Amino acid sequence: MRIAAGRGNYSPFRLGEMASSVFLTSLWLMNDTALVDPFGRRIEYVRVSVTDRCDLRCFYCMPRGFRDFEEPEHWLSFDEIERVMAAFARLGTRRIRLTGGEPLVRQNLPDLAARLSALPGVEDISLSTNATRLAKSAEALYAGGVRRINVSLDSLKPEVFRDITAGKLEKVLAGLMAAKQAGFRPIKINMVVMGGVNDDEVGDMVDFCLEHGFTLRFIETMPMGETGREAAGHFVDLRRVKERLADRFELIPGMMPGGGPARYVRVAGTDLHIGFITPISQHFCETCNRVRLSVDGTIYTCLGNEHKLELRPRLRAGCSESDLEAAILEAIALKPERHEFRERPEKVVRFMSMTGG
Ligand code: SAM
Ligand code: SF4
Repeated sequence: MRIAAGRGNYSPFRLGEMASSVFLTSLWLMNDTALVDPFGRRIEYVRVSVTDRCDLRCFYCMPRGFRDFEEPEHWLSFDEIERVMAAFARLGTRRIRLTGGEPLVRQNLPDLAARLSALPGVEDISLSTNATRLAKSAEALYAGGVRRINVSLDSLKPEVFRDITAGKLEKVLAGLMAAKQAGFRPIKINMVVMGGVNDDEVGDMVDFCLEHGFTLRFIETMPMGETGREAAGHFVDLRRVKERLADRFELIPGMMPGGGPARYVRVAGTDLHIGFITPISQHFCETCNRVRLSVDGTIYTCLGNEHKLELRPRLRAGCSESDLEAAILEAIALKPERHEFRERPEKVVRFMSMTGG
């Protein structure tokens, strides 16, 4: 039996009340506890932001000089994150991605990974990172149960990389090589393609990934916060990128495990998979299977909407396990059908690093 968080004539608030009712509580205790949102999408993946801070300043993500970060007393502790994720896992979540901000600026991240990978029901722990600190922690993360890693890398030219991120390319490359050495598979490179910035490097990035056995994903800029909207001026429709690649490579349909939004092709005669993440040109909301937990304990149900539920006040007021599960169901019932990045780009005021990318 699947538990749908609701649909039909009910408002989200009414559905929230229903979700916390004794009736639903008793249903969760009865075995199959899949989280299903009001549009029938099964939510089995949570992206956990462990910090909104970052040691880089990618101009499309975080404004240069930005320092208005969440206060440390508002960060969920590792105990609190573990408790929330244990509740998600009891309700059917199987996969967790650690992200941020830059997750590796939070102290002792491998310890958190180990705690989460030991939770009953959790099958997969992955990490999104800029890799500047990965060389130091790759082995500990692997030992903590992380197996899949996504690394942001927008340029292979040190000056262009610095212009985009205000950081040093060499550290990222060292982190990537350490990850390869430690045994992570797959290692996915995420490249935000921007016209007049790095779109001339698409072919070089393919060669780089072929050489190192990485998977490559291209991403369209999203209008997240003011910085994201400014970067949207560099928007490149990835369908054009795919056409350009098809002139040079034979591309055949591909598949990658991970349940993400990318649509994959494979370069014929190689193992290289190339994914296209196209939130603007071809949105993929109908298959969205995720929610996000921010560093301050807020569940965001959509990257492009403000629908959210704050767990921290409930956690710190001493809520019970069943209260916590009810709150999670309440949040899932708030998940909207789709983002409106194209129709209403002004809508999202949070930067990507605040929500957890
Ligand atoms: N710091 C880590 C990293 O860079 O991979 C994890 C967090 S970062 C917010 C996650 C992903 O969001 C990165 O791949 C980044 O390129 C992407 N991102 C951030 N802002 C974006 C925007 N406005 N449009 C598209 N992608 C964005
Ligand atoms: Fe930091 Fe990642 Fe945002 Fe770049 S994309 S500023 S690395 S959080």
